[in-house]
Amino acid sequence: MKALVYNGPRDVQVKNVPDAKIERATDVLVRITSTNICGSDLHMYEGRTDMEAGRILGHENMGQVIEVGKAVDRVKVGDSVCLPFNIGCGFCENCERGLTGYCLTVNPGFAGGAYGFAGMGPYSGGQAELLRVPYGDFNCLVLPPDAAEKENDYVMLSDIFPTGYHSTELAGVKPGDTVVIYGAGPVGLMAAYSAGIKGASQIMVVDTHKDRLKLAEQMGAIAIDDTEGAGVERVLELTGGKGADRGCECVGYQCCNMHREEVPNLTMNNLVKTVKATGGIGVVGVFIPKDPGAQDKLAKIGQLAFDFGQFWIKGQHIATGQANVKAYNRKLCNLIHAGKARPSGIVSHELSLDEAPQAYENFDKRKDGWTKVVLKP
Ligand code: NAD
Ligand code: ZN
Repeated sequence: MKALVYNGPRDVQVKNVPDAKIERATDVLVRITSTNICGSDLHMYEGRTDMEAGRILGHENMGQVIEVGKAVDRVKVGDSVCLPFNIGCGFCENCERGLTGYCLTVNPGFAGGAYGFAGMGPYSGGQAELLRVPYGDFNCLVLPPDAAEKENDYVMLSDIFPTGYHSTELAGVKPGDTVVIYGAGPVGLMAAYSAGIKGASQIMVVDTHKDRLKLAEQMGAIAIDDTEGAGVERVLELTGGKGADRGCECVGYQCCNMHREEVPNLTMNNLVKTVKATGGIGVVGVFIPKDPGAQDKLAKIGQLAFDFGQFWIKGQHIATGQANVKAYNRKLCNLIHAGKARPSGIVSHELSLDEAPQAYENFDKRKDGWTKVVLKP
């Protein structure tokens, strides 16, 4: 089969590799029809992780079931399925509580499993023609009959729609709340969209990318351009000086926009400044500078500094982590099916798998207009 293989930092290539196949009785084999490139892929792509050369990337996957293992009895050949990026067993004490992002079975000793990810188990990614889905009965979201027609909507259930929603849950967003979101990338845009679904009264999105901010506006948010560094001031102005009820971090570690090296990401402290006293902060941006050199550099430019004093004084609360996709994706799927949610609004490019290396390069540079790429193997 053809697959997108990681060779090394900023070097990915479409290659012929052995076909994915059923390995255990509980597996499901899926022919991939859509697979997205995600900001999380960039942690591997930019060489910040210990991703091994030769591994297949891709954790935002959707496709058709073409084979099921002997112990699979719910999922059927021919089903259209979306695959939550977290791989869960369904029976460990975390999965039992719905915390499938932290499954204790699929990646023992660490936090959860995922397709095509460094540090999250040996599972191959879906930027390929075929994907093996472990514990298939648990990990396949079987889609309604309009799956093909709304493919670019449903594929967002694999990660960024539930992740955006998760950030609002972590922050505690309730109807009528004012919400500030840092980052208008795909995840931040889905956070803004989710805050809208939850009935937030005012949604502010802070970024420096004009085209992404325009999308935030189309979602009913107030776009705040932080290019001149006045984002914090603007949020305070819009909230009568007290700050927003809730705030979401959807940026995480950034190499920096367009690879200017010395741009610190101070979103955590900006959140402390722009969320009201006693307000909630939800952090889904990933902070994983693993390489010790990167740690030193980040400490130097202040990215890792968190103003715990102000956070404590303001009595805020914070919650972090990866989205437990399964906890949300059935409900969000119902909204798409009912025509009440259309997360595909952020898709900027639909490309073939062969075009993936160029797409990675453009998305990594946050080139204008490259918001969300869906690959069609
Ligand atoms: P992205 O990296 O393209 O989006 C980040 C956006 O933040 C960009 O538009 C960038 O211009 C903006 N930005 C950079 N510095 C900023 C600053 N100081 N203030 C405001 N905005 C700033 O891609 P994405 O796909 O949206 O991913 C965002 C983060 O979410 C990544 O860290 C990714 O790994 C993470 N993520 C987490 C989960 C989870 O389960 N927790 C799931 C998916 C993605
Ligand atoms: Zn993702």
